[in-house]
Amino acid sequence: MADVVVIGAGISGAASAYELATGGLKVILIDRYGPAAMASGWTLAGVRQSGRHPAELPLARRAVSLWQTLAERLDAPTHYTRRGNLRLARTPEELASLAAMVEEQRAAKLDLSLLDAKQVAELAPAVSPAVLGGSHCPTDGHADPQATVQAFVDAAVRAGAETRFGEDVLSIDTADGRVTGVTTGAGHIPAGRVILAAGVLGNRLLQPLGLSVPMQVRLVTAVRTVPTAPMLDQVIGVANADCAGRQEVTGRFRFTGGSTEWSGEIEDAAMKDGPRPRVRPPARGVADAIRLFGGVVPAMLDTPIDEIWAGLIDQTPDALPVLQSVSDPAGLVIAMGFSGHGFCLGPVTGQIAAAMAQDLPVDLPLEPFALARFDRWNAPSEPMTLHG
Ligand SMILES: Cc1cc2nc3c(=O)[nH]c(=O)nc-3n(C[C@H](O)[C@H](O)[C@H](O)COP(=O)(O)OP(=O)(O)OC[C@H]3O[C@@H](n4cnc5c(N)ncnc54)[C@H](O)[C@@H]3O)c2cc1C
Repeated sequence: MADVVVIGAGISGAASAYELATGGLKVILIDRYGPAAMASGWTLAGVRQSGRHPAELPLARRAVSLWQTLAERLDAPTHYTRRGNLRLARTPEELASLAAMVEEQRAAKLDLSLLDAKQVAELAPAVSPAVLGGSHCPTDGHADPQATVQAFVDAAVRAGAETRFGEDVLSIDTADGRVTGVTTGAGHIPAGRVILAAGVLGNRLLQPLGLSVPMQVRLVTAVRTVPTAPMLDQVIGVANADCAGRQEVTGRFRFTGGSTEWSGEIEDAAMKDGPRPRVRPPARGVADAIRLFGGVVPAMLDTPIDEIWAGLIDQTPDALPVLQSVSDPAGLVIAMGFSGHGFCLGPVTGQIAAAMAQDLPVDLPLEPFALARFDRWNAPSEPMTLHG
């Protein structure tokens, strides 16, 4: 019998398991593949506050403060660096939209400024001289996603958590309006509480309970080069979010194109340590990602490509996640729908979900993340935005 079963070993579930285990609870962390197998491995892994929806900004700020000491807390490298986020304008219209965003976010006391082309060139010489300017948030940054998720998992295990990888949760079990555990391919696991952090696949487990997080699954193509000389400190986004990228601490460029709606099947690719999920990127997505990111950081275009993949995004209508302890069935916490910006939030998501699973208060405004906001949703959907 576990106190809490956590479904999903992406950053949301791994961080939740870590918080619960270090709090002395008996936790079982289950993933059908393994750590960072889906969005938390497919990600660009920008850690940013800039450009956040006002409802999400307090969480992003808390997360960024947690990132400062995360590697020490987890006693393992996260490769977190804080050297800024530059969101670039390629047209006068994009510059105007960035100016409005900077004004709004400065009013929310975020350290954000609008730079002209000369200031961008001084800060980031690898950026194309064709860029007209950009917003700059010096307290944003990036981290290594696989290392960070693995660090959460390892620290959770050291604190007593059990992991079950390669095990598919088939159902969340209930009786008399309460969660009683989960059933996996290996049988029933009794637990009084369940945290569902299963990303794009979460609704498969919610729907039999009469619940669902409204989401569109979107595909983003990602490209990673071989290591090359350091030339870019900041995470790069663009005003209309049709590409984003960064140079990892390894020297590899990791960049993405825009997003398209997706409704295919996830393949199980055979790897030496078990199957991993794979989504095949369309050729056009690869071409667009290279053309668009190469347009703003041409210096990387001669670097050989090492890997190409497609990632899936759990995009909700308002592009905000669902973070809630639901009342029916009691004992179920949902942490899903991060809409392309949940990597940065991971450390705070873990704290919130763990607190919810113990009925503890959270000192952050969480009303915007309740599932019930979609009951009578009739506003147009927010566009998908990836800015690192
Ligand atoms: C290309 C791309 C770029 C991105 N860029 C950024 C960025 O720069 N900054 C940022 O903050 N965010 C970014 N994001 C978003 C961010 O990566 C995600 O929001 C975040 O990783 C979500 O983490 P998660 O743990 O909630 O979900 P996931 O990482 O998807 O984890 C869900 C896990 O649940 C498991 N699972 C699902 N169903 C079951 C089941 N039935 N049984 C057992 N296990 C199950 C899966 O195997 C998976 O490991 C990006 C995403 C993509 C795809």
